[in-house]
Amino acid sequence: MATGKKILIIEDNPLNLELATDILETAGYVVCQAATAEKGIQLARSLQPDLILMDTSLPGMDGLSATRILTQEESTEHIPIISLTAHAMEGDKEKALAAGAKAYLIKPIDTRTFADTITQFLNGEGLSKAA
Ligand code: MN
Repeated sequence: MATGKKILIIEDNPLNLELATDILETAGYVVCQAATAEKGIQLARSLQPDLILMDTSLPGMDGLSATRILTQEESTEHIPIISLTAHAMEGDKEKALAAGAKAYLIKPIDTRTFADTITQFLNGEGLSKAA
């Protein structure tokens, strides 16, 4: 069971955002939401979440650029980022990891395993469902 850890989800698709939020809140996490990278960066600085889930494709600044900023900034560099992308394309995983993401998940998320996957990651057990 999750222990009220804070997760920031940065995702511009409202349905994806609500689905991930519902699943994580049901599992006991406190979820903060941002629909743009710019807003997400602000919230990461002010809220200091335990984990960030970052959509790679966002309006304005993209998720890879936001990942670079957050992982290079002193106030946020300690926060792990999991990159989320709908594009299961060769090379996207490497791009996300090169930008500073700790792990990578392909959307759509698996609603049956998503919460456990996140909990495992936060427990330092890696991502069993990572591509
Ligand atoms: Mn998107």
